[in-house]
Amino acid sequence: MVKNYTDLLKCDQECLWHPYTSMTTPLPSYLVEDADGVYLHLATGEKIIDGMSSWWSVVHGYNNAFINDAMKAQIDKFSHVMFGGLTHEPAVKLANTLIDITPVGLDKVFLADSGSVAVEVSIKMALQYQHSLGKADKNKLLTIKNGYHGDTFAAMSVCDPVNGMHSLFSGFISENYFADAPSIGFDDDWVDSAANSAIKSLKQQFKDNHQHIAALILEPIVQGAGGMRFYHPQYLRACRALCDQYEILLIADEIATGFGRSGKLFACEHANISPDILCLGKALTGGYLSLAATLCTTKVATTISKGEAGVFMHGPTFMGNPLACATANASLELLFKNDWQAQVRAIEQQLKTELLPIKQHKNIADVRVLGAIAVIEAKYKVNMAIIQQKFVEMGVWIRPFGKLIYIMPPFVISTAELKTLTQALANIVDCDEVFNKI
Ligand SMILES: *Cc1c(COP(=O)(O)O)cnc(C)c1O
Repeated sequence: MVKNYTDLLKCDQECLWHPYTSMTTPLPSYLVEDADGVYLHLATGEKIIDGMSSWWSVVHGYNNAFINDAMKAQIDKFSHVMFGGLTHEPAVKLANTLIDITPVGLDKVFLADSGSVAVEVSIKMALQYQHSLGKADKNKLLTIKNGYHGDTFAAMSVCDPVNGMHSLFSGFISENYFADAPSIGFDDDWVDSAANSAIKSLKQQFKDNHQHIAALILEPIVQGAGGMRFYHPQYLRACRALCDQYEILLIADEIATGFGRSGKLFACEHANISPDILCLGKALTGGYLSLAATLCTTKVATTISKGEAGVFMHGPTFMGNPLACATANASLELLFKNDWQAQVRAIEQQLKTELLPIKQHKNIADVRVLGAIAVIEAKYKVNMAIIQQKFVEMGVWIRPFGKLIYIMPPFVISTAELKTLTQALANIVDCDEVFNKI
């Protein structure tokens, strides 16, 4: 019987998996009792500022009255109904909004339950599309190194092969094609063809393997969990052009970047391109429920529908969940009402002013800011248990991985709250004991 704080944590350690953790030597977890605005309230009494937006998702902060009310109103009607043969206003309204706000040409919407599933759906769309065109040999994917697309098997097969530990699953995981990661940063000067090794690698992959490639899948502009790097819009334009030239579909995975995080509503807008297929998730519901969407062009949708199956072969139990759709509708309404663009611009300015000077620090290799994302790349891997505890003592929730200490705060964060986060980052780089210097 679970009674108190220590019992809960003990039971948690004994019986619950956490993301990417060991069941024998788990890292400590912190017990959250409540959350409000940008604050997490821990059972130990601390109120800490969430610098992660619970992994890109909680853009409006916690316990937002407008979103809560919309959820309660939908609960009082119905929380779920099957989507086979039935439909409802929350889903129709959400589809309409997504078609309106996403890059031009994306006109058909598939609603799934999580980001990884949205990626699976996008891959299946690409394969069914090529199959319908009589190109069944185009059954592989091209992607770029350092990518992250989720933890299910097809998604994993296009994650970075080293970071994603493909060797563990060899024989089971699909083998796809990998071009070198883009080498030129978002703000750096663009270098054309010959001197640009990443473009050379990309062109070579298209040239050598296009007969086998159904789609190029990538995270536009921001490579997230695979390295937190921001690359040049010209690279994305080159991808679009090569896909057109070789009749390969372009899948943009905007699960992390969607809904304003990079400074544009969708990161594809930095390059002024539209993908053929777009994956959305994370901030779609403001982080209140799990929901994802895969959008495609009319051409992709009609080609699939004219193919051998005559239908798109996917239909999860909780497809188009009404409560999740109503939540997404409220979150999107709030996004525009709150003027996300002004919020993100202010955050970006402050992040640049307060964090870029850290670049010179002896423990630090690089500092990068784009939109409401800041990345401090250390020269050494961090000790997670120590750094986590230090951050909590400083009143912030920041969860690094490897050498990367990064934040993507809720858009509603105040100047003073953001200052607390950047001050914690400035303080932590001075703490030699958080770095594993070997
Ligand atoms: C988080 C993420 C995913 C996976 O989404 P889940 O909801 O965790 O399954 C896929 N692609 C990108 C770019 C992501 O950041």
